[in-house]
Amino acid sequence: MSGVIRALVWNEYYAERKVEAIRSVYPDGIHGQVASALNAAPGILAKTATLDEPEHGLTEEVLAQTDVLFWWGHSLHSLVSDEVAERVVERVRDGMGFVALHSAHASKPFSRLLGTRTGKLRWHEEGLKTRLWKIDYSHPITEGIGDCFELEHEETYGEHFDIPAPESLVFVSWFPSGEVFRSGCCWTRGGRVFFFQPGHETFPTYYDENVKRVLVNAARWAARPDRITYICDETKPLEKID
Ligand code: ZN
Repeated sequence: MSGVIRALVWNEYYAERKVEAIRSVYPDGIHGQVASALNAAPGILAKTATLDEPEHGLTEEVLAQTDVLFWWGHSLHSLVSDEVAERVVERVRDGMGFVALHSAHASKPFSRLLGTRTGKLRWHEEGLKTRLWKIDYSHPITEGIGDCFELEHEETYGEHFDIPAPESLVFVSWFPSGEVFRSGCCWTRGGRVFFFQPGHETFPTYYDENVKRVLVNAARWAARPDRITYICDETKPLEKID
């Protein structure tokens, strides 16, 4: 790909403003830290958008200039308008990449893109350690990542995760309470879709060097600067038919 990757990091931006303990972890919001990690990488220009902006900051014009959209949401999924959610889905069908972070598994764009029944999963929250195992060694999202890496504190996610089978299973997470979880999953929905499990708001997950590397790799993998054009219509035969 030539040129700069235009990334947009969307966040509901609620917990960081309401809860001091969370604000102290992410004073510029989760979106601010994710964008900062992306902007630190050569060839990526990341901007941000939040729920409270007009049209949630996701106007037609903004999405038309976005190659990959990162999404973090947790408690306010239902406040995302159906119109904007559908606009995001349509743009992904046109080729835009979509990276669903952590609890974005229950967001409107993610569940609509994947056609999940609920998008739900097993979870509990004690801030246990997690170990993410690299499964797909050939996948570009794992570039620079070792066999596995640990996060000292994360929310526990476990199977069953109500998703269609991923086209690539990139990471699987282990938790000391016994659960395992498909923590890095890829699909194609016109554009490329990636789900990445870590990122509970009370923990400094998005400052972790391995996590930041995955975010950058995901931006590079999912971004697509050109729109997909389809011809699905009555057409003339390509060969002469006797
Ligand atoms: Zn969480």
